[in-house]
Amino acid sequence: MKEFVPIAIKIKNDDRAVEIKWSDGHMSLLPTQRLRGYCPCAECQGHKTQIKWQENHTHTIFGANLVGRYALSFQFGDGHQTGIFRFEYLRKLDPSEENRWGNPEEALVCLT
Ligand SMILES: [Zn+2]
Repeated sequence: MKEFVPIAIKIKNDDRAVEIKWSDGHMSLLPTQRLRGYCPCAECQGHKTQIKWQENHTHTIFGANLVGRYALSFQFGDGHQTGIFRFEYLRKLDPSEENRWGNPEEALVCLT
């Protein structure tokens, strides 16, 4: 399986998004509301395996932290910060690549 590794992460609250540059050269602009809505944590998703969109109005992120060598966590503007976003999961949330991955609700499973 191909590995996705972010080499630069920029929180762009003015654009309501997070920009990630990947090791394969691809740039993702991930809308903050989309990240929050597909937060994979158990609190947001329960214990189902299929990801469901969580309606939200979160457009701000205060910080991002590396989790081990495989994931990022975000401090969202609404105070939520328990989601562990695996690199591959983040990559599959890129709206510009939805043709490649499919709709997140079909393409993603909880991998926490
Ligand atoms: Zn969550």
